[in-house]
Amino acid sequence: MIPQPTELKLLNPDTLQIAWNDGLVGRITIRELRENCPCANCIEKRSKPEPIALLPILKAEETQPLRITKMDPQGRYAYAIDFSDGHNTGLFTLDLLRELGEVVGDEGIGE
Ligand SMILES: [Zn+2]
Repeated sequence: MIPQPTELKLLNPDTLQIAWNDGLVGRITIRELRENCPCANCIEKRSKPEPIALLPILKAEETQPLRITKMDPQGRYAYAIDFSDGHNTGLFTLDLLRELGEVVGDEGIGE
């Protein structure tokens, strides 16, 4: 059985906390979510090496703090996440949400 989230909340505007029904609690930064976006576009972008720049260049969207503007359940296995940079094509499966971020607590239900 795939663990299901029992609570999703923004700890602060940068950090999403997810509590799971097996007692695990994980935290993921919004930046990390965005960088691990599973949509076809982002996967393709990540598979290419970064172009070499002489000076560090900040894209317009990188100067703004990244936020989640919307998070909608898609059935029982994934969430569609809208980011404040306008990106909204990523479908984050529960598996991916479990994988990302760091575990901050485990109430150890069962066992
Ligand atoms: Zn994407």
